[in-house]
Amino acid sequence: MTTAHTHELTKNQTLVFNALSRADGPLSAYTILDQLRGDGFRAPLQVYRALEKLLDYGMVHRLESINAFVACAHPHSHSHGHTHGMIAFAICEKCGQVSEFSDDVITQRVRQWTTDNAFKPSKTTIEIRGVCASCGTA
Ligand SMILES: [Zn+2]
Ligand SMILES: [Zn+2]
Repeated sequence: MTTAHTHELTKNQTLVFNALSRADGPLSAYTILDQLRGDGFRAPLQVYRALEKLLDYGMVHRLESINAFVACAHPHSHSHGHTHGMIAFAICEKCGQVSEFSDDVITQRVRQWTTDNAFKPSKTTIEIRGVCASCGTA
């Protein structure tokens, strides 16, 4: 098994990953494309191809409910790959800030349910949408 941080990234993958790392919140593929036009990106497909690999490597996550992407907040803990359990995201609908966390109790409950129901999970993501602490007090 190779460690997560030593993946050989192509130039495009590096550019896409850096764009997401710099961002304050999640970015759509089209926003990424717009930011990288100066770096030679021309078509959404180039962004999607890079994102696909970064998703594979666990360096980036897709937020299904808002169709956007974020850099992983703790890439090293994903280096154990498929044993990584559930990932949860709290998405602020006001400022767009995303907090990534995982919780062993929820992970265990989900595993228990899937075992009991003979369901084979390929991926579990929880997305909580709402208002973050700083927006809630504003
Ligand atoms: Zn992550
Ligand atoms: Zn907020």
